[in-house]
Amino acid sequence: GGDFTESRNTFAVIDVRNYIHNLEYFQEKCAPAKVMPVIKANAYGHGAVMLAKSAEKWGIDYFAVAFLEEAIELRKNGISSDILVFNYVEPDFLTIAVENNITITMYSWEQLEKYSVVSKKPKVHVNVDTGMNRVGIKPQHVKDYIFKLKQDGFNVEGLYTHFAVADSDDIEDIKFTEQQYKLFEAIDVDVSIKHVCNSAAAIAGRIPCHNYVRVGIAGYGLMPGKRIYRNLKPVLSWKTAVSHVKYIEKGESISYGRTFVADKRMKVATIPVGYADGYWRHLSNKGEVLIRGKRCRILGRVCMDQFVVDVSHLENVNSGDEVVLIGEQLNENISAEEIAELVGTINYEVTCRISERVPRIYR
Ligand code: PLP
Repeated sequence: GGDFTESRNTFAVIDVRNYIHNLEYFQEKCAPAKVMPVIKANAYGHGAVMLAKSAEKWGIDYFAVAFLEEAIELRKNGISSDILVFNYVEPDFLTIAVENNITITMYSWEQLEKYSVVSKKPKVHVNVDTGMNRVGIKPQHVKDYIFKLKQDGFNVEGLYTHFAVADSDDIEDIKFTEQQYKLFEAIDVDVSIKHVCNSAAAIAGRIPCHNYVRVGIAGYGLMPGKRIYRNLKPVLSWKTAVSHVKYIEKGESISYGRTFVADKRMKVATIPVGYADGYWRHLSNKGEVLIRGKRCRILGRVCMDQFVVDVSHLENVNSGDEVVLIGEQLNENISAEEIAELVGTINYEVTCRISERVPRIYR
């Protein structure tokens, strides 16, 4: 919105309808369980506030984030649904959680002890460690833990666990997930909400989802692990515009370190995006972008705010032409997975890293 058009035409374009489509897919697949969109880390880089607003309007009544600050940002922007915080919150901030009706995760005796000095107790979900070994109460202690929580005046609303290898179809991994689920199921406590599945577990469909399915990555149309897309639509594309076109002669080098030297006359285009935007320096001399529906290879190092690509194979290219860094252009596509593979990471990190300098626009 607003009158100001960004001076370099660089945007992450967020397709809100695709996001809702993906949530709808899980709503149908996992019913009667409801979808709890995981919108931590600014919705994996997609923009938590806008997606939460649309999702809430569509019917979502519970969101999950990593930290209290993320929950507060949603409240400040008018989100009234329940919000679960996965990670640790310092006791001094519990009052803010209570005042904003934010649900806190409890996962250790130490945390319970620290919180006991606070008079206003938040609504909580207990995280059970069935094999992830990050945070969580071990299954055999959950009953005692919840007894103590209730005694201390906590409103214990929920119980959950998190799977370590639900994205894998390896037989040992499937067994591990089943084992985690069995450990969870054996816990005999009275809470009103239970949730166990992340995107991968929901997609695999082997584990019952209980009351909520915590959909993160797949909501954004990206697949966890190595499985391929089925019914999901990607939500994010990243676009910019060519800032300069020129020829270089044989023997000329490009960018810092002179890591690329032309072995012939070439036509090259400068792209006004760099690692400060969360573009990947690891794509230097490796990655590709789309211009006029064609793949164009990165030449030399990706700098903080710019890099150069080969456009020798394009007849007609001008500054101002649309460049797709992630997403579709004509019949070509560059996926977050392709970039992840090239830089040695996962699609989650690819979208999370797109920095605040890149404005998000919503379609
Ligand atoms: N539940 C918990 C506790 C998580 O930490 C996460 C994300 O890391 C999710 C659910 C969502 O996982 P995914 O994005 O794979 O769906």
